[in-house]
Amino acid sequence: MKSVTVIGASLAGLYAARALRAQGYDGRLTIVGEEAHPPYDRPPLSKDFLTAPSGEGSSAAEDAEDRLALTDAEELTALDADWLLGTRATGLDLRHRAVRLDTGRTLTTDGLVLATGAAPLRLPGPAPAGSYTLRTLDDARALRAELTRGPVRVVVIGGGFLGAEAASSCAALGHRVTVVEAAPVPLARQLGAEIAQLCATLHADHGVTLLTGTRVRALRTAGDRATADDEATAADRVTAVELTDGRLLPADVVLTAIGVRPHTDWLDGSGLPLGDGIRCDAGCATPVPEIVAAGDVAEVAGVRAEHWTSATEQAATAVHNLLAGRTVRTHRALPYFWSDQYGVRIQFAGHRAPGDTPRIIEGSPDDRSFLARYERAGRPTAVLAVNRPRPFQRHRRELARAGVPASAG
Ligand SMILES: Cc1cc2nc3c(=O)[nH]c(=O)nc-3n(C[C@H](O)[C@H](O)[C@H](O)COP(=O)(O)OP(=O)(O)OC[C@H]3O[C@@H](n4cnc5c(N)ncnc54)[C@H](O)[C@@H]3O)c2cc1C
Repeated sequence: MKSVTVIGASLAGLYAARALRAQGYDGRLTIVGEEAHPPYDRPPLSKDFLTAPSGEGSSAAEDAEDRLALTDAEELTALDADWLLGTRATGLDLRHRAVRLDTGRTLTTDGLVLATGAAPLRLPGPAPAGSYTLRTLDDARALRAELTRGPVRVVVIGGGFLGAEAASSCAALGHRVTVVEAAPVPLARQLGAEIAQLCATLHADHGVTLLTGTRVRALRTAGDRATADDEATAADRVTAVELTDGRLLPADVVLTAIGVRPHTDWLDGSGLPLGDGIRCDAGCATPVPEIVAAGDVAEVAGVRAEHWTSATEQAATAVHNLLAGRTVRTHRALPYFWSDQYGVRIQFAGHRAPGDTPRIIEGSPDDRSFLARYERAGRPTAVLAVNRPRPFQRHRRELARAGVPASAG
């Protein structure tokens, strides 16, 4: 293989580039990224970065941005890659293995790593001023600038990990925060209702109002027109969030955190199989062995993960198989993610299925410090810790060693 092109210059893309060089690939390497920034880390964007002081020329703000960097000049030299940043891939010609770029250029390549991640879902209608999503550094800069102007009323739409972390950061900054969640209990799908309920108590502990079982009908703006109305313009400023149960929540700032969709639009019609992401086998390979995928955009053996660790591990597996020309290694790592909110670290590893029984085996939910093990037919399937990092790692290792029983279906 003489040339490999990586599409997506973020976490999975960088780890794929590292893996290519580490696994001995010495051909031409091109990395295409839509964002103008060199690879940076997203997890801090909803956490420390949001609470760091903002402001043009502020050294604290610059430090916060510096800490996001995933790579440095020395590594960039060692990777010996052509970086096409601020450049979007717009189409793929499978037969000629050619990637069309928004600059008008077409790149032909022997191997292709697809690492285009995911984009936030948005509410229908135009987004009025004061309403945000949080995925990129530019999103985080804009939201932080708004939040550091003084105490405001913030409504976070969506009580998942991102919403909870952002709510926690807003509360730490002294804002009045309400979280709106459509499900009866946030995170119940990921953690099961019982444990999710325990995690949800963190909101109330920190003075954040959590409204569950209700959806957003529309964002209201200064002219008191719903933004779903065709006449509304994005220049209008958000003033309230209208819920489907009729309640109107006054809001100066709204963050929509209702999930993501994989960045696959540019592959429509290419012939690559697309489902909930780019469909790959267990080795992150598409049906075309010279094309592999990794990270939030990849549906690996039917599962699309949206976790930092999966993106890095999949990149190494994908590259291994790309260089081998067929799937010789599969991605078997135990799924793992963490979330930092309200001064607490939540960690989860394993394959929980609905019906698995959680048991608290250490600590106490009352102390906001406990470790729960999920079990199926008496065998552990997953582990969750709230503020118990050391025992968590031990249980995670044991779970990885023992393997997780097949899902009851
Ligand atoms: C605010 C925030 C907090 C998070 N916190 C945690 C956490 O605490 N724990 C955890 O486990 N995970 C967390 N995550 C998830 C984690 O960051 C992601 O799983 C990870 O970023 C996925 O990496 P990726 O490279 O697959 O995708 P991304 O990071 O989304 O990168 C994809 C890149 O591809 C680019 N791209 C898209 N389309 C194109 C195109 N057509 N052409 C060129 N470039 C393109 C995008 O602009 C982007 O730069 C968080 C994510 C966010 C947004």
